[in-house]
Amino acid sequence: MLLLRCPKCHNKMKYQSSGSIAGKRKRCVYCGHSFLVSKWFLGPA
Ligand SMILES: [Zn+2]
Repeated sequence: MLLLRCPKCHNKMKYQSSGSIAGKRKRCVYCGHSFLVSKWFLGPA
């Protein structure tokens, strides 16, 4: 699991990673903004 921070609303959320995260996108569960996982991950959750 990875910990992500939304660049729009700055809430933290977990992301289930399987394989490479390069180019993967995640939709924020709080505000619905879609962002790049590889750019906004904080570390292991
Ligand atoms: Zn958000």
